[in-house]
Amino acid sequence: MTERLRRHRRTKIIATLGPASDTPEMILHLFQAGADVFRLNFSHGAHEEHAARIEMIRAIEKKKGRPIGILADVQGPKLRVGKFQSGRVQLQAGQEFILDMNPLPGDSRRVCLPHPEIIQAAEIGATLLLDDGKLRLRILRKRADHLLTSVVHGGVLSDRKGVNVPDVVLPIPALTAKDRADLDFVLPLGIDYIGLSFVQRPEDVDEAKTLAAGRAAIMVKLEKPQALDNLDAILNRADAVMVARGDLGVELPPEEVPIAQKRILRAAQQRGMPVVVATQMLESMITSPAPTRAEASDVANAVYDGADAVMLSAESAAGQYPREAVNMMDRIITRVERDADWRLGLDTKRPQPEHSSADAIAAASVQVAHTIGAQAIVALTESGSTALRVAREKPDCPIIGLTTSVTVARRLAAVWGVHAVTTVAASSMTQAIEHAQTVARLDGFARKGEEIIVVAGVPFGRPGTTNTLRVAKL
Ligand code: PGA
Ligand code: MN
Repeated sequence: MTERLRRHRRTKIIATLGPASDTPEMILHLFQAGADVFRLNFSHGAHEEHAARIEMIRAIEKKKGRPIGILADVQGPKLRVGKFQSGRVQLQAGQEFILDMNPLPGDSRRVCLPHPEIIQAAEIGATLLLDDGKLRLRILRKRADHLLTSVVHGGVLSDRKGVNVPDVVLPIPALTAKDRADLDFVLPLGIDYIGLSFVQRPEDVDEAKTLAAGRAAIMVKLEKPQALDNLDAILNRADAVMVARGDLGVELPPEEVPIAQKRILRAAQQRGMPVVVATQMLESMITSPAPTRAEASDVANAVYDGADAVMLSAESAAGQYPREAVNMMDRIITRVERDADWRLGLDTKRPQPEHSSADAIAAASVQVAHTIGAQAIVALTESGSTALRVAREKPDCPIIGLTTSVTVARRLAAVWGVHAVTTVAASSMTQAIEHAQTVARLDGFARKGEEIIVVAGVPFGRPGTTNTLRVAKL
């Protein structure tokens, strides 16, 4: 039997799909180049387009026999100004500019801001950032139906540009009516993660969880400074987290973003929660076949820091070089993971096991694997939790996540070091170990005479009961 596809790296790749990557051939290329999870960006595209993408991904999954994760990223309360009579205006520093609720097209003195709750919540002296922070306004006066502002940094403002309000906790939930409609459409099609944009409060996560009703895991996107203030409470309720540097970098000064990134990584890793570093990782590859040195370094540093996954946005969705971008990420990751300093760094930063049998077993499995030079740690995992606890330890051998649930296998596609495989239920530990050995052999992790570690919760099928460690020789 031929060896099935496996990756030779631990850090995963998420690639956003879009007009540049919308054919079955291109999605297959991206998968083969290294994409482990595909992201559907609901800020763009019609429902049918997303449905077609899901169908294409699932066809590849079937053909290749490998679980692929799908992240449905909903837009969230992304604020935008209305339109202008002439499509665009030039705002000069020092001039006054009004944001109001009048739906008529704007001019150089005013434009519609169709979000009354923002006008309500805004405070005099607060800053409004327009078009990804290119223009900056300061609020001078507030009325029930408008804000009078003074232009601090001028520039061109065109139709429907984004508005960020960094100083204010927006009195709006993270799920808008559009998000709900998008999720109602996409959840029944079978997605694995919901990307929850502009999360500010822990209750935002609860709301998404209720809506998902177990059909998808919740990946919170940290892109508001307010979310950083509530970091622990938000992460306590989430399943995964994304460092969404695009909007975060608008709302925070640039020098704060790397610090926030490291803080989020640390907090997620402490919990054993998958964490993704996103946005502008290989930005110049939208129009160039090669990245800048700084971009290569950015991807590499996320890998050194132990991110579960690195993400491509426009590079793979709308750029000229989607395949090259995935391939470049794969090369950077693979290279870093051969560096002794990478391993040393992960060993040094390993979080203490929590006081549970699951963590005791996970930590022990890593120790035993290292001591005997085992080829893989096989986590028999029904909910995914055993695999996550082993991944939290960042072992120096691969992790095989063996599960009867295709949903769990797909979610594990985003997790550091885990090669997820679906299997039939085992009726005994002996049989489960046989399954583990077969998969380790067929997928090219171990040969006859070599050893693997198997960790499991016995009896099977009860999440959170990891209590067994076995060494098995093939
Ligand atoms: P977006 O989120 O691409 O949906 O805006 C990611 C980010 O802001 O970094
Ligand atoms: Mn964003």
